[in-house]
Order: sequence, then structure tokens, then C-alpha cells
Amino acid sequence: MTDLENFKRNFTGQIEVICGSMFSGKTEELIRRLRRAQIAKQKVAIFKPRIDNRFSENDIVSHNKQSITSTVVDSADEILLFSAGAEVIGIDEAQFFDNNLVKVCQKLADQGKRIIVAGLDTDYRGVPFEPIPELLAIAEYITKTLAVCVKCGAPANRTQRITKDSDRVVVGASDVYEARCRNCYEPPEDGNG
Ligand code: ADP
Ligand code: MG
Ligand code: ZN
Repeated sequence: MTDLENFKRNFTGQIEVICGSMFSGKTEELIRRLRRAQIAKQKVAIFKPRIDNRFSENDIVSHNKQSITSTVVDSADEILLFSAGAEVIGIDEAQFFDNNLVKVCQKLADQGKRIIVAGLDTDYRGVPFEPIPELLAIAEYITKTLAVCVKCGAPANRTQRITKDSDRVVVGASDVYEARCRNCYEPPEDGNG
């Protein structure tokens, strides 16, 4: 959707999902949309889950060091609590919330708010990462972002874990993960991706 369409819309709420692999520019794109909403003097509330403190306690920071101030929350319900006065709501690292995030986003969008959610579409095994699949199903607008494969330079939609950990959530950046295309991605031994 263009900014003009967004500006003209008749105050119906909407959900926008930005998803893709690590390093694909999800956070960059989220920050870009939120900055434009701030420039338009809309009331913007921005959230991230507590688990993601890779770069900064409060700021959302992209891999190329762009940042925007956010509120750290422990659950999706806290987003509801802190969003009462907001017109535009940004949520990064949505895959670290539980499925309750879906209900929370629906509720806020039903109140007429614009929700922009960014998160990983698949985990390191290539398996869809809840609650993103359900958010994709109910969203008005979807953006899939692609990284660049570090092996061959092709568009990359997979996140290769380069350590041996088999926990689903291991927080890290280029020390733990690489962007890989479908051809260069190597499924982990424990995985089914
Ligand atoms: P995401 O939130 O999807 O993990 P970010 O928005 O934080 O991604 O970072 C995107 C930035 O990461 C790019 O603009 C680029 O500067 C940097 N980057 C590092 N490695 C790669 C890669 N393999 N492919 C694309 N961008 C990369
Ligand atoms: Mg990110
Ligand atoms: Zn490749």
C-alpha cells in the first residue's frame, strides 16, 4: 500500500506483516514505515519482546545500525495495555511472542489502529515460525523480504544456523546465523526442513 492510500484510508484498522529470513531487512522496513508515521504526526507505539536484547535494551536496532525507541514487553497482553492512545503500532521479532499475539493484533486493528508486525517466517530448520503463519492469514498487507545468500549471492529466504545448538530460540546475529538461498541451505541433522 502506498503512503497516499494509507493517508486517505477511512480509519479502518489494518494489519501489515513484514516477514522473511534473518538479514532480509525486516527491521529496516519496519523502522522506515514507523518513521514515516511519526513524520505524519501520528501517535506511534513500538514494541519488542524482552528476549531480543542483542543490540540494546530498549531500542529496536537493525543489522545496519538504524534504530528507533521501543518499549520492551513480556507478553502480547502488555501491548494491548500500552496501546490505548496509539494510532500506529509497530511490533518487531513477532516470532518470540506466543499465539496470543494474533488475538491482540486483531483486537487493536478492530479498534481502527494500523498494526505493523515484523518477524521471522521460518525457524533455522525452515519450519514456519508461529505466530507469523496465522498473522499472514489475517493480515491485509504482506511483505516478504529476502536477504542475499552469503554463499552464492542469490536471493535468500532461509536462515542457516552455523552453530550446533538445537534449541528453537538461540538469540544471535552473524555469529550464529547466515542468510542462505534454497540451494545453499543445509538442513540441520535434527531438523525436518
Ligand atoms: P532483519 O530484521 O530482517 O534481520 P535488518 O533490517 O536488521 O534485517 O538488517 C538488514 C541489513 O542487514 C541490510 O540492509 C544489510 O546492511 C545487512 N546485511 C548483512 N548481511 C546481509 C545479507 N546476507 N543479506 C542482506 N543484508 C545483509
Ligand atoms: Mg530484525
Ligand atoms: Zn545460495
